[in-house]
Amino acid sequence: MTARILVVDDIPANVKLLEARLLAEYFDVLTAENGYRALEICEQTQVDLILLDIMMPGMDGFEVCERLKANPRTQHIPVVMVTALDQPSDRVRGLKAGADDFLTKPVNDLQLISRVKSLVRLKSLTDELRIRAETAQNIGMEDLLRIHDGRLDEVGQILLVDGRASSQERIIRALKPIAEVVAMSDPQAAVFEAAENGFDLVIVNANFDDYDPLRLCSQLRTLERTRFIPVLLIADQGAESMIVRALDLGVNDYLIRPLDPNELVARCLTQIRRKRFNDRLRTSVKQTIELAVTDGLTGLSNRRYLDNHLKILFARAQARGRPLSVCITDIDRFKLVNDTHGHDAGDDVLREFANRIRSTVRGADLACRFGGEEFVVVMPDTPADVAVVIAERLRAIIEGKPFALKGADVALNVTASMGIATVGPGIETPEQFLKHADRALYEAKKAGRNRVVAAAA
Ligand SMILES: [Mg+2]
Repeated sequence: MTARILVVDDIPANVKLLEARLLAEYFDVLTAENGYRALEICEQTQVDLILLDIMMPGMDGFEVCERLKANPRTQHIPVVMVTALDQPSDRVRGLKAGADDFLTKPVNDLQLISRVKSLVRLKSLTDELRIRAETAQNIGMEDLLRIHDGRLDEVGQILLVDGRASSQERIIRALKPIAEVVAMSDPQAAVFEAAENGFDLVIVNANFDDYDPLRLCSQLRTLERTRFIPVLLIADQGAESMIVRALDLGVNDYLIRPLDPNELVARCLTQIRRKRFNDRLRTSVKQTIELAVTDGLTGLSNRRYLDNHLKILFARAQARGRPLSVCITDIDRFKLVNDTHGHDAGDDVLREFANRIRSTVRGADLACRFGGEEFVVVMPDTPADVAVVIAERLRAIIEGKPFALKGADVALNVTASMGIATVGPGIETPEQFLKHADRALYEAKKAGRNRVVAAAA
């Protein structure tokens, strides 16, 4: 996986060193000698990850990071702070500024490359979701971010998998201000727990006597229901090769014992924030897809959905030699409703008409608004005579009870005409199928409306 990485450091030798290592891994590298230039580059070009020095004249790394994270256009870019300072307080300050990770100078090669790779991988997932959400015209990125900010105050739900009671207690105490923690010492039971309940984060403490914690990490990443939950690994000093493998497996972050409670809190918050942001994006993508196939006024499926789904039903009926019928129905003299009572009344009628269709069709039938005052019901496994019975039932339900109008005392008498077609000889395509039904509808209108006509086989 290739990515564009921005290296920011005021000392040219440091820039050169990191640049050379990243180029050797085939990353695309940009460089900046100060914070101002770094912000400029991020505004102008697409950057996938930033390696950011802390001690710089003018604007230091903390401030650069804060500015990046405050700007909706750059806040999703992961930031790794590279620093000679190895004080926990600086790490916490950086994490509060929104940094995603730290590397300490002199930078260890393996850690550099594995951290960069894992953050780039995470970012590409987020990017994909961002693009899909942005494509939806009705969901603005800014709205999403606002919602996400609001949810930050909610207490996180964390699953802690830890083999020892004493460290469980310490971690629960440290996380108390920000999260509710469920602690478990059995890794297998923890996998089920994670799959069953909606956690924001799983912390795996690698302190089991006879269990490989990476097995748990890999299971969490593989299972459909847990693959989007962030995982934070706690490992011993010197367990570098395990950490590298964990990051390769998709573990999101790690901490080294002895734990600094502030850093634990800061890292958990970062993961929870990220998780909620991605959840929000995913939900909006799903809603967008639903909107795309739903008629906004009636809540029935729309024409686009019908066109696609009818193809599938038609092909299946032909392949299996099963009957398939369709009913096109049109509200009689609907124009008169709009002209006499206004368009709001017309909308009321359409909505109520859709409700009556919904309450009449069977579970397997597909009801759609075809456009205007025309509706279509597709009936799988249904021969012509049964389709006529169902259409007749619908016709009677429409005629049977006047349609109430919202905010008006009047109720309107509404009737509908219906044309039915059933797949058979002479119908080779879904388009011909609908055309036959449409012709039958025309016959019903011509014969005086408020009736059901089935196309001749
Ligand atoms: Mg410096």
